Amino acid sequence: MIVDIHTHVFDAGLHFGPKLHADLARCAVDPAVWGNVEERHLETTEAADVAIVFGLQASQTDWNIPNEMVSSHVLRAPERLLFFASIDPAQANYMQELEKCHQELGAVGVKLAPLYQDVHPQDPRYYDIYRYCVKHGLPILFHAGTSFISGTRLDYSRPVHFDSVAVDFPDLKMVLAHLGHPWEGETIAVIRRHANVYADISALYYRPWQFYNSMRLLVEYGAQHKVLFGSDFPFTTTGDSLERIRNLNYIIAQSGLPAVPSEAIEGIIHRNTLELLGLPNPTLLK
Ligand SMILES: [Zn+2]
Repeated sequence: MIVDIHTHVFDAGLHFGPKLHADLARCAVDPAVWGNVEERHLETTEAADVAIVFGLQASQTDWNIPNEMVSSHVLRAPERLLFFASIDPAQANYMQELEKCHQELGAVGVKLAPLYQDVHPQDPRYYDIYRYCVKHGLPILFHAGTSFISGTRLDYSRPVHFDSVAVDFPDLKMVLAHLGHPWEGETIAVIRRHANVYADISALYYRPWQFYNSMRLLVEYGAQHKVLFGSDFPFTTTGDSLERIRNLNYIIAQSGLPAVPSEAIEGIIHRNTLELLGLPNPTLLK
């Protein structure tokens, strides 16, 4: 089974505020290139058997993708989509929002984004969320590593901060997105220490030299079993990600540099992500 642990849905026209549009413009990104994200999401995720879907609530950086919208999108294909709730501790009612998403909207996990929310991973408000997630068996996927957005503290996205969280919450299942780029080595150091901390390889193949080196480092540390497949749709698609990850050794050509073994690559692509994170298998609904 192939699980895409990292897919987004949103409507940039409705859910992105002016500050976020300004950040995108600064980086010469036109949201129109993503097309109709919701419709394309249903198509792209067919390349995986199951996809995890989330929006983003981050008032500090102007993201306002309602959890209700994501939850109703998931109901369009409940036999292959799972909903993670995005919770923003900068909003006063964040614990009520978490309870509502979990108890009424069908959330089976949580998406947090310290860099986007401008909240340190060890902030007491996040600790409220961690306690709730441990109690109810909800995994948390964190944005880890850098981003194009401005005005918040990059330090909050350093993978090493999640090491302290894992010490305080050894039973909390965590996924550090994007191998914490460009601090992939730091992420590998964290995931190999903690039984319940994983990483995903979404959105990395665009930087093929760094990606190859990160994958080699992962194999040299023997930590590839802690890594999950993800795409980061709509910034790429599930199908393109599978193809480009499988082809990552092209960068070394005939140089004599060591290849990333195909068993390591296929192991990540076919990882038993649902079992590892304690998630329900929606394909059983078929
Ligand atoms: Zn993402």
